[in-house]
Amino acid sequence: MHTELIPPARLAGRPRDRHGRLVPWFVAHINGEPDHRVVRQAGVEDAARFNHCFLCGARLGVYVTFVLGPMCTINRVSAEPPSHRYCAEYAARACPFLTHPQMRRRDSGLPEEAAEPDGIMCRRNPGVIAVWTTRAWHMEPDARLFSVGDPTEVTWWREGRPATYDEAFDGLESGRALLEEEADQDAMPSRAHSKLARQYENALLHLPGSRS
Ligand SMILES: [Zn+2]
Repeated sequence: MHTELIPPARLAGRPRDRHGRLVPWFVAHINGEPDHRVVRQAGVEDAARFNHCFLCGARLGVYVTFVLGPMCTINRVSAEPPSHRYCAEYAARACPFLTHPQMRRRDSGLPEEAAEPDGIMCRRNPGVIAVWTTRAWHMEPDARLFSVGDPTEVTWWREGRPATYDEAFDGLESGRALLEEEADQDAMPSRAHSKLARQYENALLHLPGSRS
């Protein structure tokens, strides 16, 4: 946590836990205590249905922002609903899971009833993340995943600071490797690989410094 980092006003109004940490809107309470590792019951669906910012809970506008791992900038899928741009950027800089790549999400000891975000892609800690602002998105009807459209703006972050082109590129490459493996398993592998090649080329356009 950077001491100089000041949360946007909407987030600053959220309650704090007994360690003084902000408790985002999505956080579940387990035995009366907020557990930052766990998404509240129906939190993903409710955020999308009622247009809540996933982080501060206030209403979203026309433009929304997703915090995406590099792989998600290729397949344009997010397991988490969108937030305000400034809330997302704050999370990208302050969230320990996003800003300390050596940390791993602790999966043991979670209560069984806890709802986890769907999708394996964002459960790995990507190290580099994209703060992806767009007005084109929707929730997939049965998968509890979000399709994310072309961005109006993207910023890249690593360990709480802007990421370089090379760092973002490396992240994209490891994301592509995982998607290549998925494409191998597809019922129609050659079609899946050509789709992935197109998606990858498109993702390259949004690396830091790539847009003129
Ligand atoms: Zn917000």
